[in-house]
Amino acid sequence: MSYQTGKMTLTALDEIPKLHARLTKSFNDGLTLPLSYRRNQLLQLAHLIQDNAEAINDAIFADFGKPKLEVTLTETGPVVDNCIQAAESLTDWAAPEKPQVNPLHAAWDPTVYKVPKGVVTIIGPWNFPYTLILLPLVGAIAAGCPCVIKPSEYSPHSSQLLAELWPRYMDVNAYAVVNGTEVQTTRLLDLKWDHVFFTGSARVGKIVATAAGKHLTSSTLELGSKSPVVIDADNIDLKLAAKRILWGKQLNGGQICISPDYVLIPRHKQDEFIAALRDAYKSFFPGEAGGLDPQSQLSRILTPAHHARLRAMLEGTRGSIVLGGKSEGTARLDITVVKDVAIDDALMEEEIFGPILPIVPIDNITEAYKIIGARPVPLVIYVFTDREQFKDGFLEHTRSGQLVLNDTFFQLAVQEVPFGGLNDSGYGSYLGKHTFETFTHRRGYVNIPAAADEVLQIRYPPYSEQAYQL
Ligand code: NAD
Repeated sequence: MSYQTGKMTLTALDEIPKLHARLTKSFNDGLTLPLSYRRNQLLQLAHLIQDNAEAINDAIFADFGKPKLEVTLTETGPVVDNCIQAAESLTDWAAPEKPQVNPLHAAWDPTVYKVPKGVVTIIGPWNFPYTLILLPLVGAIAAGCPCVIKPSEYSPHSSQLLAELWPRYMDVNAYAVVNGTEVQTTRLLDLKWDHVFFTGSARVGKIVATAAGKHLTSSTLELGSKSPVVIDADNIDLKLAAKRILWGKQLNGGQICISPDYVLIPRHKQDEFIAALRDAYKSFFPGEAGGLDPQSQLSRILTPAHHARLRAMLEGTRGSIVLGGKSEGTARLDITVVKDVAIDDALMEEEIFGPILPIVPIDNITEAYKIIGARPVPLVIYVFTDREQFKDGFLEHTRSGQLVLNDTFFQLAVQEVPFGGLNDSGYGSYLGKHTFETFTHRRGYVNIPAAADEVLQIRYPPYSEQAYQL
Protein backbone atom coordinates (compact mmCIF):
# COMPACT_ATOMS: atom_id res chain seq x y z
CA MET A 1 0.00 0.00 0.00
CA SER A 2 1.22 3.51 -0.78
CA TYR A 3 0.11 6.92 0.33
CA GLN A 4 0.01 10.23 -1.55
CA THR A 5 1.77 13.44 -0.58
CA GLY A 6 2.22 16.48 -2.81
CA LYS A 7 3.22 15.51 -6.34
CA MET A 8 4.71 12.17 -5.41
CA THR A 9 3.34 8.90 -4.10
CA LEU A 10 5.53 7.73 -1.25
CA THR A 11 6.39 4.05 -0.99
CA ALA A 12 4.87 2.50 2.12
CA LEU A 13 7.59 1.55 4.59
CA ASP A 14 6.48 -2.07 4.93
CA GLU A 15 6.76 -2.40 1.15
CA ILE A 16 10.54 -1.85 1.21
CA PRO A 17 11.63 -5.13 2.89
CA LYS A 18 9.18 -6.95 0.62
CA LEU A 19 10.84 -5.44 -2.46
CA HIS A 20 14.21 -6.43 -1.07
CA ALA A 21 13.00 -10.00 -0.54
CA ARG A 22 11.49 -10.17 -4.03
CA LEU A 23 14.68 -8.96 -5.70
CA THR A 24 16.81 -11.28 -3.58
CA LYS A 25 14.71 -14.25 -4.66
CA SER A 26 15.05 -13.23 -8.31
CA PHE A 27 18.81 -12.98 -7.88
CA ASN A 28 19.03 -16.36 -6.17
CA ASP A 29 16.88 -17.88 -8.94
CA GLY A 30 19.37 -16.53 -11.49
CA LEU A 31 16.81 -14.30 -13.24
CA THR A 32 19.28 -11.49 -14.01
CA LEU A 33 22.20 -13.72 -14.96
CA PRO A 34 21.70 -14.38 -18.70
CA LEU A 35 23.28 -11.69 -20.86
CA SER A 36 20.23 -11.79 -23.13
CA TYR A 37 18.01 -10.81 -20.18
CA ARG A 38 20.31 -7.93 -19.21
CA ARG A 39 20.46 -6.72 -22.81
CA ASN A 40 16.69 -6.78 -23.04
CA GLN A 41 16.29 -4.75 -19.84
CA LEU A 42 18.91 -2.22 -20.99
CA LEU A 43 16.98 -1.69 -24.20
CA GLN A 44 13.70 -1.49 -22.27
CA LEU A 45 15.22 1.30 -20.19
CA ALA A 46 16.26 3.10 -23.39
CA HIS A 47 12.69 2.71 -24.69
CA LEU A 48 11.28 4.09 -21.44
CA ILE A 49 13.28 7.25 -22.00
CA GLN A 50 12.78 7.55 -25.76
CA ASP A 51 9.02 6.90 -25.73
CA ASN A 52 8.45 9.42 -22.96
CA ALA A 53 10.98 12.13 -23.78
CA GLU A 54 8.32 14.86 -23.87
CA ALA A 55 6.79 13.85 -20.54
CA ILE A 56 10.29 13.75 -19.02
CA ASN A 57 11.03 17.25 -20.35
CA ASP A 58 7.81 18.49 -18.76
CA ALA A 59 8.46 16.78 -15.43
CA ILE A 60 12.01 18.15 -15.09
CA PHE A 61 10.78 21.58 -16.18
CA ALA A 62 8.08 21.43 -13.49
CA ASP A 63 10.70 20.50 -10.90
CA PHE A 64 13.18 23.33 -11.52
CA GLY A 65 12.58 24.98 -14.88
CA LYS A 66 15.34 23.17 -16.75
CA PRO A 67 15.32 23.99 -20.49
CA LYS A 68 14.46 21.23 -22.94
CA LEU A 69 17.81 21.28 -24.74
CA GLU A 70 19.66 20.81 -21.46
CA VAL A 71 17.39 17.85 -20.65
CA THR A 72 18.26 16.26 -23.99
CA LEU A 73 21.97 17.00 -23.59
CA THR A 74 22.37 15.97 -19.96
CA GLU A 75 19.51 13.61 -19.11
CA THR A 76 17.65 11.69 -21.80
CA GLY A 77 20.48 11.63 -24.36
CA PRO A 78 23.19 10.21 -22.08
CA VAL A 79 20.87 7.61 -20.54
CA VAL A 80 19.81 6.27 -23.94
CA ASP A 81 23.42 6.33 -25.21
CA ASN A 82 24.65 4.46 -22.15
CA CYS A 83 21.92 1.82 -22.44
CA ILE A 84 22.81 1.18 -26.07
CA GLN A 85 26.55 1.21 -25.44
CA ALA A 86 26.15 -1.25 -22.56
CA ALA A 87 23.84 -3.54 -24.56
CA GLU A 88 26.33 -3.59 -27.44
CA SER A 89 29.42 -4.03 -25.26
CA LEU A 90 28.02 -6.46 -22.72
CA THR A 91 29.46 -9.66 -24.22
CA ASP A 92 32.88 -8.09 -24.25
CA TRP A 93 32.62 -6.54 -20.74
CA ALA A 94 31.31 -9.71 -19.14
CA ALA A 95 33.81 -12.06 -20.80
CA PRO A 96 36.12 -13.87 -18.38
CA GLU A 97 39.66 -12.50 -18.37
CA LYS A 98 42.77 -14.60 -18.68
CA PRO A 99 45.53 -12.81 -16.78
CA GLN A 100 49.15 -13.00 -17.92
CA VAL A 101 50.84 -15.46 -15.61
CA ASN A 102 54.11 -17.15 -14.81
CA PRO A 103 54.55 -20.06 -17.33
CA LEU A 104 54.42 -22.52 -14.43
CA HIS A 105 50.85 -21.39 -13.67
CA ALA A 106 49.56 -21.20 -17.23
CA ALA A 107 48.29 -24.78 -17.14
CA TRP A 108 46.21 -24.02 -14.05
CA ASP A 109 43.59 -22.13 -16.06
CA PRO A 110 43.86 -18.82 -14.14
CA THR A 111 40.74 -16.80 -14.89
CA VAL A 112 38.89 -13.75 -13.60
CA TYR A 113 35.13 -14.21 -13.86
CA LYS A 114 32.91 -11.09 -13.88
CA VAL A 115 30.03 -11.90 -11.57
CA PRO A 116 27.26 -9.63 -10.27
CA LYS A 117 27.83 -8.28 -6.76
CA GLY A 118 24.24 -9.13 -5.88
CA VAL A 119 21.17 -7.08 -4.98
CA VAL A 120 22.01 -3.38 -4.94
CA THR A 121 20.46 0.02 -4.30
CA ILE A 122 21.04 3.39 -5.94
CA ILE A 123 20.10 6.60 -4.10
CA GLY A 124 20.13 9.83 -6.08
CA PRO A 125 19.89 13.62 -5.76
CA TRP A 126 17.39 15.97 -7.40
CA ASN A 127 19.65 17.99 -9.69
CA PHE A 128 19.82 15.44 -12.53
CA PRO A 129 16.77 13.45 -11.56
CA TYR A 130 17.15 10.84 -14.31
CA THR A 131 20.85 10.75 -15.20
CA LEU A 132 22.20 10.32 -11.70
CA ILE A 133 19.89 7.41 -10.94
CA LEU A 134 19.72 5.76 -14.35
CA LEU A 135 23.38 5.92 -15.43
CA PRO A 136 24.41 3.90 -12.37
CA LEU A 137 21.41 1.62 -13.01
CA VAL A 138 22.71 0.88 -16.52
CA GLY A 139 25.84 -0.54 -14.88
CA ALA A 140 23.81 -2.53 -12.35
CA ILE A 141 21.64 -4.07 -15.07
CA ALA A 142 24.67 -4.80 -17.26
CA ALA A 143 26.46 -6.45 -14.34
CA GLY A 144 23.43 -8.66 -13.57
CA CYS A 145 22.41 -7.01 -10.29
CA PRO A 146 18.76 -6.58 -9.31
CA CYS A 147 18.35 -3.04 -8.05
CA VAL A 148 16.11 -0.72 -6.06
CA ILE A 149 16.42 2.90 -7.14
CA LYS A 150 15.53 5.77 -4.82
CA PRO A 151 15.12 9.10 -6.67
CA SER A 152 14.97 12.38 -4.78
CA GLU A 153 11.85 13.80 -3.17
CA TYR A 154 13.05 17.28 -4.21
CA SER A 155 12.32 16.49 -7.86
CA PRO A 156 8.83 15.05 -7.21
CA HIS A 157 7.44 15.37 -10.75
CA SER A 158 10.39 13.48 -12.22
CA SER A 159 10.39 10.85 -9.46
CA GLN A 160 6.65 10.28 -9.76
CA LEU A 161 6.78 9.96 -13.54
CA LEU A 162 9.60 7.43 -13.31
CA ALA A 163 7.65 5.32 -10.81
CA GLU A 164 4.55 5.41 -13.03
CA LEU A 165 6.42 4.43 -16.20
CA TRP A 166 8.49 1.75 -14.49
CA PRO A 167 6.19 -1.31 -14.59
CA ARG A 168 5.32 -0.64 -18.24
CA TYR A 169 8.95 -1.14 -19.30
CA MET A 170 11.03 -2.83 -16.61
CA ASP A 171 10.85 -6.27 -15.03
CA VAL A 172 9.62 -5.40 -11.53
CA ASN A 173 10.90 -8.71 -10.20
CA ALA A 174 14.41 -7.37 -10.69
CA TYR A 175 14.17 -3.56 -10.68
CA ALA A 176 12.06 -1.40 -8.41
CA VAL A 177 11.51 2.25 -7.56
CA VAL A 178 11.18 3.47 -3.98
CA ASN A 179 9.93 7.03 -3.70
CA GLY A 180 10.08 9.00 -0.51
CA THR A 181 12.02 11.14 1.90
CA GLU A 182 14.80 10.30 4.33
CA VAL A 183 12.25 8.11 6.13
CA GLN A 184 12.08 5.71 3.17
CA THR A 185 15.83 5.98 2.58
CA THR A 186 16.55 5.14 6.20
CA ARG A 187 14.36 2.03 5.95
CA LEU A 188 16.15 1.11 2.73
CA LEU A 189 19.53 1.48 4.38
CA ASP A 190 18.54 -0.70 7.34
CA LEU A 191 18.52 -3.65 4.96
CA LYS A 192 21.57 -5.59 3.85
CA TRP A 193 22.48 -4.80 0.23
CA ASP A 194 25.39 -6.08 -1.81
CA HIS A 195 26.37 -2.58 -2.94
CA VAL A 196 25.06 0.90 -2.20
CA PHE A 197 25.57 3.61 -4.81
CA PHE A 198 24.89 7.12 -3.48
CA THR A 199 25.00 10.51 -5.17
CA GLY A 200 24.31 13.58 -3.05
CA SER A 201 25.69 15.75 -0.29
CA ALA A 202 28.64 14.89 1.93
CA ARG A 203 26.34 15.17 4.97
CA VAL A 204 24.04 12.38 3.75
CA GLY A 205 26.99 10.51 2.22
CA LYS A 206 28.36 9.97 5.72
CA ILE A 207 25.00 8.57 6.86
CA VAL A 208 24.90 6.24 3.85
CA ALA A 209 28.49 5.03 4.28
CA THR A 210 27.89 4.37 7.98
CA ALA A 211 24.70 2.40 7.25
CA ALA A 212 26.46 0.36 4.54
CA GLY A 213 29.44 -0.19 6.83
CA LYS A 214 27.21 -1.78 9.50
CA HIS A 215 26.52 -4.59 7.00
CA LEU A 216 30.07 -4.58 5.60
CA THR A 217 28.50 -3.57 2.30
CA SER A 218 30.67 -1.85 -0.28
CA SER A 219 29.59 1.60 -1.38
CA THR A 220 30.21 4.23 -4.02
CA LEU A 221 29.86 7.84 -2.88
CA GLU A 222 29.49 10.58 -5.49
CA LEU A 223 29.50 13.78 -3.41
CA GLY A 224 29.81 17.51 -3.96
CA SER A 225 32.81 19.82 -3.93
CA LYS A 226 34.15 23.22 -4.85
CA SER A 227 35.66 22.58 -8.27
CA PRO A 228 38.17 25.35 -9.07
CA VAL A 229 38.99 26.85 -12.45
CA VAL A 230 42.56 28.02 -12.98
CA ILE A 231 43.33 30.25 -15.94
CA ASP A 232 46.76 30.55 -17.57
CA ALA A 233 45.47 33.89 -18.80
CA ASP A 234 48.55 35.23 -20.61
CA ASN A 235 48.70 32.20 -22.86
CA ILE A 236 45.17 31.37 -24.02
CA ASP A 237 42.15 32.74 -25.85
CA LEU A 238 40.51 34.41 -22.85
CA LYS A 239 37.24 35.09 -24.69
CA LEU A 240 36.74 31.43 -25.49
CA ALA A 241 37.69 30.43 -21.96
CA ALA A 242 35.13 32.91 -20.53
CA LYS A 243 32.42 31.54 -22.83
CA ARG A 244 33.13 27.93 -21.86
CA ILE A 245 33.29 28.74 -18.16
CA LEU A 246 30.07 30.75 -18.22
CA TRP A 247 28.32 27.99 -20.16
CA GLY A 248 29.32 25.43 -17.53
CA LYS A 249 28.24 27.80 -14.78
CA GLN A 250 24.78 28.58 -16.15
CA LEU A 251 23.97 24.94 -16.97
CA ASN A 252 21.26 23.66 -14.57
CA GLY A 253 21.32 27.11 -12.96
CA GLY A 254 24.76 26.28 -11.55
CA GLN A 255 23.23 23.45 -9.50
CA ILE A 256 25.77 20.81 -10.51
CA CYS A 257 28.35 18.99 -8.43
CA ILE A 258 31.01 19.76 -11.06
CA SER A 259 30.01 23.35 -11.83
CA PRO A 260 32.99 25.66 -12.06
CA ASP A 261 32.82 26.86 -8.44
CA TYR A 262 35.44 29.62 -8.32
CA VAL A 263 38.08 31.08 -10.65
CA LEU A 264 41.76 31.65 -9.90
CA ILE A 265 43.32 34.10 -12.38
CA PRO A 266 46.43 36.28 -12.48
CA ARG A 267 45.53 39.61 -10.87
CA HIS A 268 46.47 41.69 -13.92
CA LYS A 269 44.06 39.71 -16.12
CA GLN A 270 41.01 39.80 -13.86
CA ASP A 271 39.29 42.77 -15.56
CA GLU A 272 39.93 41.50 -19.08
CA PHE A 273 38.39 38.17 -18.06
CA ILE A 274 35.34 39.92 -16.59
CA ALA A 275 34.87 41.86 -19.84
CA ALA A 276 34.97 38.55 -21.71
CA LEU A 277 32.42 37.06 -19.27
CA ARG A 278 30.15 40.08 -19.91
CA ASP A 279 30.35 39.49 -23.68
CA ALA A 280 29.53 35.81 -23.22
CA TYR A 281 26.65 36.67 -20.87
CA LYS A 282 25.19 39.10 -23.44
CA SER A 283 25.41 36.52 -26.20
CA PHE A 284 23.76 33.81 -24.02
CA PHE A 285 21.05 36.07 -22.55
CA PRO A 286 20.41 38.89 -25.05
CA GLY A 287 17.11 39.98 -23.42
CA GLU A 288 16.89 43.21 -21.44
CA ALA A 289 16.80 41.45 -18.07
CA GLY A 290 19.69 39.10 -19.00
CA GLY A 291 19.41 35.74 -17.24
CA LEU A 292 16.16 36.83 -15.61
CA ASP A 293 14.51 37.72 -18.90
CA PRO A 294 11.31 35.69 -19.38
CA GLN A 295 12.75 34.41 -22.69
CA SER A 296 16.06 33.32 -21.16
CA GLN A 297 16.53 29.64 -20.47
CA LEU A 298 18.18 29.64 -17.09
CA SER A 299 16.99 26.93 -14.68
CA ARG A 300 15.41 28.24 -11.53
CA ILE A 301 16.73 27.69 -8.02
CA LEU A 302 15.12 24.59 -6.55
CA THR A 303 13.34 26.01 -3.46
CA PRO A 304 13.05 29.33 -1.61
CA ALA A 305 15.35 27.84 1.06
CA HIS A 306 18.03 27.06 -1.54
CA HIS A 307 17.56 30.59 -2.93
CA ALA A 308 17.91 32.13 0.54
CA ARG A 309 21.19 30.23 1.09
CA LEU A 310 22.63 31.69 -2.12
CA ARG A 311 21.41 35.22 -1.29
CA ALA A 312 22.99 34.94 2.15
CA MET A 313 26.30 34.00 0.49
CA LEU A 314 26.06 37.09 -1.73
CA GLU A 315 25.21 39.30 1.23
CA GLY A 316 28.20 37.90 3.11
CA THR A 317 30.78 38.45 0.38
CA ARG A 318 33.38 41.22 0.64
CA GLY A 319 33.97 41.02 -3.11
CA SER A 320 32.27 43.28 -5.70
CA ILE A 321 29.39 42.06 -7.82
CA VAL A 322 30.31 42.95 -11.41
CA LEU A 323 27.66 41.01 -13.33
CA GLY A 324 24.10 39.92 -12.48
CA GLY A 325 23.27 39.78 -8.80
CA LYS A 326 19.53 40.22 -9.16
CA SER A 327 16.80 37.79 -8.15
CA GLU A 328 13.25 37.34 -9.31
CA GLY A 329 11.23 36.50 -6.22
CA THR A 330 12.64 33.46 -4.50
CA ALA A 331 12.69 31.30 -7.60
CA ARG A 332 15.35 32.72 -9.88
CA LEU A 333 18.80 34.15 -9.45
CA ASP A 334 20.72 35.66 -12.35
CA ILE A 335 24.21 34.52 -13.26
CA THR A 336 26.31 36.54 -10.86
CA VAL A 337 30.04 37.25 -11.09
CA VAL A 338 31.91 38.57 -8.05
CA LYS A 339 35.44 40.01 -8.35
CA ASP A 340 38.27 40.44 -5.86
CA VAL A 341 37.08 37.59 -3.67
CA ALA A 342 39.45 36.73 -0.83
CA ILE A 343 40.14 33.10 0.11
CA ASP A 344 38.39 33.52 3.48
CA ASP A 345 35.27 35.07 1.87
CA ALA A 346 31.72 33.75 2.49
CA LEU A 347 31.71 32.53 -1.13
CA MET A 348 34.75 30.34 -0.49
CA GLU A 349 33.40 28.47 2.53
CA GLU A 350 31.27 25.75 0.95
CA GLU A 351 30.16 24.40 -2.42
CA ILE A 352 28.16 27.21 -4.10
CA PHE A 353 25.74 24.97 -6.05
CA GLY A 354 24.11 27.95 -7.77
CA PRO A 355 24.78 30.52 -10.52
CA ILE A 356 27.40 32.56 -8.62
CA LEU A 357 31.00 32.74 -9.85
CA PRO A 358 33.59 34.24 -7.48
CA ILE A 359 36.90 35.35 -8.97
CA VAL A 360 39.96 35.12 -6.75
CA PRO A 361 42.95 37.04 -8.14
CA ILE A 362 46.32 35.37 -7.59
CA ASP A 363 49.92 36.46 -8.01
CA ASN A 364 51.57 33.19 -8.99
CA ILE A 365 50.76 29.57 -9.70
CA THR A 366 52.07 28.33 -6.36
CA GLU A 367 49.28 30.31 -4.76
CA ALA A 368 46.75 28.35 -6.84
CA TYR A 369 48.21 25.02 -5.68
CA LYS A 370 48.05 26.23 -2.07
CA ILE A 371 44.45 27.47 -2.27
CA ILE A 372 43.30 24.21 -3.83
CA GLY A 373 45.40 22.05 -1.51
CA ALA A 374 44.07 23.75 1.62
CA ARG A 375 40.52 22.66 0.78
CA PRO A 376 38.77 19.28 0.55
CA VAL A 377 39.83 17.36 -2.57
CA PRO A 378 37.50 18.57 -5.39
CA LEU A 379 35.68 16.43 -7.92
CA VAL A 380 37.31 18.31 -10.79
CA ILE A 381 40.04 20.87 -11.36
CA TYR A 382 39.49 22.83 -14.56
CA VAL A 383 42.64 24.33 -16.06
CA PHE A 384 42.66 26.64 -19.06
CA THR A 385 46.08 26.44 -20.69
CA ASP A 386 47.85 25.34 -23.84
CA ARG A 387 51.12 24.75 -22.04
CA GLU A 388 52.08 21.16 -21.27
CA GLN A 389 54.26 22.30 -18.39
CA PHE A 390 51.34 24.18 -16.80
CA LYS A 391 49.23 21.00 -16.98
CA ASP A 392 52.07 18.91 -15.54
CA GLY A 393 52.25 21.28 -12.57
CA PHE A 394 48.66 20.44 -11.69
CA LEU A 395 49.22 16.71 -12.12
CA GLU A 396 52.18 16.96 -9.76
CA HIS A 397 50.98 19.46 -7.13
CA THR A 398 47.23 18.90 -6.78
CA ARG A 399 44.68 16.14 -6.23
CA SER A 400 41.14 15.86 -7.65
CA GLY A 401 38.69 13.29 -9.03
CA GLN A 402 39.36 14.54 -12.56
CA LEU A 403 41.70 17.05 -14.20
CA VAL A 404 40.08 18.75 -17.19
CA LEU A 405 41.78 21.11 -19.62
CA ASN A 406 40.16 23.97 -21.50
CA ASP A 407 36.45 23.29 -20.99
CA THR A 408 33.89 22.70 -18.25
CA PHE A 409 31.37 19.88 -17.73
CA PHE A 410 31.79 18.38 -21.20
CA GLN A 411 34.41 15.90 -20.06
CA LEU A 412 31.44 13.71 -19.13
CA ALA A 413 30.87 13.07 -22.84
CA VAL A 414 33.95 10.82 -22.72
CA GLN A 415 32.43 7.73 -21.16
CA GLU A 416 35.71 5.83 -21.22
CA VAL A 417 37.25 8.15 -18.61
CA PRO A 418 36.02 7.34 -15.08
CA PHE A 419 34.08 9.97 -13.18
CA GLY A 420 34.26 10.09 -9.40
CA GLY A 421 35.72 11.89 -6.42
CA LEU A 422 38.50 11.36 -3.93
CA ASN A 423 38.20 11.60 -0.13
CA ASP A 424 35.77 14.45 0.66
CA SER A 425 34.29 14.41 -2.84
CA GLY A 426 33.54 10.70 -2.54
CA TYR A 427 35.00 7.38 -3.59
CA GLY A 428 34.49 4.93 -6.42
CA SER A 429 33.81 5.99 -9.99
CA TYR A 430 31.61 5.26 -12.97
CA LEU A 431 30.61 6.01 -16.59
CA GLY A 432 30.55 3.52 -19.47
CA LYS A 433 32.39 0.30 -18.68
CA HIS A 434 33.46 1.69 -15.29
CA THR A 435 29.81 1.55 -14.16
CA PHE A 436 29.62 -2.12 -15.10
CA GLU A 437 32.78 -2.71 -13.07
CA THR A 438 31.32 -0.88 -10.05
CA PHE A 439 28.59 -3.52 -9.76
CA THR A 440 30.78 -6.46 -10.75
CA HIS A 441 32.82 -8.73 -8.51
CA ARG A 442 36.01 -10.00 -10.11
CA ARG A 443 35.88 -13.59 -9.01
CA GLY A 444 39.25 -15.27 -9.08
CA TYR A 445 39.51 -18.83 -10.38
CA VAL A 446 42.41 -21.27 -10.48
CA ASN A 447 42.36 -25.03 -11.14
CA ILE A 448 45.49 -26.77 -9.89
CA PRO A 449 45.28 -30.22 -11.49
CA ALA A 450 46.53 -33.44 -9.95
CA ALA A 451 49.28 -33.52 -12.58
CA ALA A 452 50.80 -30.42 -10.98
CA ASP A 453 51.96 -32.57 -8.10
CA GLU A 454 54.91 -33.55 -10.20
CA VAL A 455 56.25 -30.12 -9.41
CA LEU A 456 54.42 -29.46 -6.17
CA GLN A 457 55.29 -32.61 -4.27
CA ILE A 458 58.30 -30.89 -2.86
CA ARG A 459 56.02 -28.68 -0.68
CA TYR A 460 54.80 -31.58 1.46
CA PRO A 461 56.38 -32.38 4.84
CA PRO A 462 58.72 -33.62 5.88
CA TYR A 463 60.43 -30.56 4.38
CA SER A 464 63.67 -31.32 2.59
CA GLU A 465 66.70 -29.15 2.01
CA GLN A 466 65.94 -29.51 -1.73
CA ALA A 467 62.75 -27.39 -1.30
CA TYR A 468 64.84 -24.34 -0.32
CA GLN A 469 66.65 -24.55 -3.63
CA LEU A 470 63.47 -24.08 -5.62
P1 NAD B 1 21.07 15.15 -0.55
O1 NAD B 1 22.28 14.53 0.03
O2 NAD B 1 20.29 16.10 0.28
O3 NAD B 1 20.03 14.03 -1.03
C1 NAD B 1 20.40 12.91 -1.82
C2 NAD B 1 19.51 11.72 -1.50
O4 NAD B 1 19.68 11.37 -0.13
C3 NAD B 1 18.02 11.98 -1.73
O5 NAD B 1 17.47 10.86 -2.40
C4 NAD B 1 17.47 12.09 -0.32
O6 NAD B 1 16.16 11.59 -0.22
C5 NAD B 1 18.40 11.22 0.50
N1 NAD B 1 18.50 11.66 1.89
C6 NAD B 1 18.40 12.94 2.36
N2 NAD B 1 18.57 12.96 3.70
C7 NAD B 1 18.79 11.68 4.08
C8 NAD B 1 19.04 11.05 5.34
N3 NAD B 1 19.11 11.74 6.47
N4 NAD B 1 19.21 9.71 5.37
C9 NAD B 1 19.16 8.99 4.24
N5 NAD B 1 18.92 9.55 3.02
C10 NAD B 1 18.73 10.85 2.94
O7 NAD B 1 21.57 15.87 -1.90
P2 NAD B 1 20.75 16.81 -2.89
O8 NAD B 1 20.45 18.11 -2.23
O9 NAD B 1 19.65 16.07 -3.55
O10 NAD B 1 21.87 17.05 -4.03
C11 NAD B 1 22.82 18.07 -3.94
C12 NAD B 1 24.17 17.55 -3.50
O11 NAD B 1 24.52 16.41 -4.25
C13 NAD B 1 25.26 18.57 -3.74
O12 NAD B 1 26.18 18.55 -2.68
C14 NAD B 1 25.91 18.07 -5.00
O13 NAD B 1 27.23 18.50 -5.18
C15 NAD B 1 25.82 16.59 -4.81
N6 NAD B 1 25.90 15.92 -6.11
C16 NAD B 1 26.99 15.14 -6.39
C17 NAD B 1 27.10 14.57 -7.65
C18 NAD B 1 28.28 13.71 -8.05
O14 NAD B 1 28.19 13.05 -9.09
N7 NAD B 1 29.37 13.68 -7.32
C19 NAD B 1 26.10 14.78 -8.60
C20 NAD B 1 25.02 15.57 -8.25
C21 NAD B 1 24.92 16.14 -7.01
